[in-house]
Formats: sequence, C-alpha cells, structure tokens
Amino acid sequence: MAMERKTVHLSASALNDLLICERRYAFSHGLDPSVSKPAPNKYLVLGQAVHTAIRFDYDGKNPYTAIEETIAEQVAEGGDPELALLHAENMYQAFRLWKKEHPEKPVSQESEVSFEIGGYPVVGFVDAMFPLLGRDWKTSTKAWDFKKQQDSWLQRTVYGVGTGMLEWEFVVFYPDKNGASYGVYPGTVTDRDVVRLKAMVRAFGPLVQKTVIDEFPIRPTSMNWLCKAAWCPYFTVCPGGEPLEEAV
Ligand code: SF4
Repeated sequence: MAMERKTVHLSASALNDLLICERRYAFSHGLDPSVSKPAPNKYLVLGQAVHTAIRFDYDGKNPYTAIEETIAEQVAEGGDPELALLHAENMYQAFRLWKKEHPEKPVSQESEVSFEIGGYPVVGFVDAMFPLLGRDWKTSTKAWDFKKQQDSWLQRTVYGVGTGMLEWEFVVFYPDKNGASYGVYPGTVTDRDVVRLKAMVRAFGPLVQKTVIDEFPIRPTSMNWLCKAAWCPYFTVCPGGEPLEEAV
C-alpha cells in the first residue's frame, strides 16, 4: 500500500527562497538526490552561535560555553566558523548592552508556531516572546538598511499570525569598530501584510507539494549572473547557472 505523503509546510524562509528562485528551494529541500545540501555557511554558523548564547543567557547558563559548543557542532557538520570566531562573542556582548536597557525576561524562547492557510501548513520559529511584544534576534554584517527593514514584514507576519501578537522587534547585532553594536527595528503586523501572506501561501502551497525537481521553474530573472549575485550554492549544478548563451 502506498504511503500517504505528509503535506509539506511553508515558513517565512521557505517563502523567501521561493520568491528568489523556485528551483533553488527545490535543491535545498533535497528534490535532486544527486545534489547534497551545502554545509552551514559562515553567516548561519554565526547566527546559530549568537542565538544559542542568548538562549543560554536567559536560561542562566554559560553563554560562552554555548558559543564554543555551537561552533564545534557546526564545524563537525562541515560548517564555516570564520565569522562566528570573529564576531560571536562581541555580538553577545552587544546583546548584554541591549539587555541592560530591557531587563524584562521573555515568557518563552525558541517556540514553534503553526497554522494553516487554504489547507497548507505554515510554521514559524519564534526567538523570544515578551509580555507586550515578540522579538527576533538577528546577526548581520552591518546595520539594517531600509530594504532589509521592509523585507522583514514576511517573517513578522508569520510570527504574528502564529502567535496573535501584532507588535514585533527585530534586534540586529552587527560588527563595528568597537567590536559589535545593535539596532532595534520595530514593526506591526497589518491586515495588508496578512493578505499578502495568504496570497503567497496559496500561490506556493501547491508547488511545494510536488516531488519532481523539473516542476520547480528556473526563474528567468535568476539566470546566470543573477544566480551568482544571489549567492546561489547550486550555481554549478543548475541549468540556470549556465552562461547565458548556453542556457535555454
Ligand atoms: S543557479 Fe540560479 S536558477 Fe539555478 S537554483 Fe540557483 S538561483 Fe535558481
């Protein structure tokens, strides 16, 4: 008897990936068995180390142990520790400065939220819920520009629909000449955001249930140099990564 396939869920990062290039999403979700998942890149390793340090801090555990162990775990998986070794401790110190101004404790940390839109499941992973708002920790190479702030609507909306909390802050840690600093980017989930999220889930929900990689389009706008510009890790194995004159 054929096994029933579980409905594939969407998340803010999956939706962002799909917006950049559907084929890239398919590669990263293992739909081409000949292409292995790339090892954690230097940004991911840094992010993991800082997130774990913050969680340990609130849990009353040693954040430096968290940084050390997270880097070691990620390296064991082939991850690139370059940025984490340079910046994770400084970013944790920047978090400590931020925390001095915001001594209230989170009511929960690293909780998963889930809901459905049009029968398609959506999940989100919330960094920290406080009594009056939710917060997401970010690591970055610099302070967020206007575009980054605009782009955060999707993640905020997934969190907002999942938790019912409309007020969110993205607290962004980035290196500076003194080690590291932080920026706080608040935002409110609006009805318009929810409509946009619903439209995206309904658009991509049926696509992500597919199991054949060729059914995931190569975006014409993502081809060739734009694939490189998007830092696509599948550039060398994807037909979209061929030189323009060879690509179809
Ligand atoms: S190389 Fe280009 S077309 Fe292919 S998956 Fe990456 S972004 Fe998409």
